[in-house]
Amino acid sequence: MTARDASPTAPSPAAPSHAARPVADVAKRARPLGLRFIVAVANEPWQEHDAARTAERWAVLCTEHGDPTLGNSPVRDAALRDAVTEVRTLFAIAEPQAAANALNAALASATATSELAQLADGRWALRPALPYDARAATAYRMLAVAALADWFAERGRPAWGHCAAPGCGNVFIDEGRRQPQRFCTPTCATRTRVAAHRRGTAGE
Ligand SMILES: [Zn+2]
Repeated sequence: MTARDASPTAPSPAAPSHAARPVADVAKRARPLGLRFIVAVANEPWQEHDAARTAERWAVLCTEHGDPTLGNSPVRDAALRDAVTEVRTLFAIAEPQAAANALNAALASATATSELAQLADGRWALRPALPYDARAATAYRMLAVAALADWFAERGRPAWGHCAAPGCGNVFIDEGRRQPQRFCTPTCATRTRVAAHRRGTAGE
């Protein structure tokens, strides 16, 4: 992943551009089915979706992140929610040895080999060899564990977390170079800072 891919901020709306940049474009420049996909699926409010909406959103997220074929995989909504819950617990582990242990256990149970897969837009991705008939939950779990383990190795620590903003609940990938990231977006960081400031000036 290049530093450009890893930039946590979307292109500034003020940047010179001939046309409005669709959201899907941002995902297209990132690694197919990479960390942005893992985070997008982890942050989707699946518990609010019925079975039809779950299948629809899974297809949309897969397509936006470079693999419409995976979007057609069978979706059992309860199983997908369980897989997302499991992956979200990985995002909560900040201690390196504990994160390594959890990821190693997940990698061992997935027993996945890697394969080069060509995606609809022609790009190639190195990713876990998904079973021919992989269901959405299985595919997501395998992709997430592999991507997170890869990122851990690249950064030398579990560089991720759950957003510290009250009421947010999003997970994020820590792409910063210096201080550990605490919030999913600059919006959540600002909102929390402003709220703390208000409490400080209005409180006793
Ligand atoms: Zn947040």
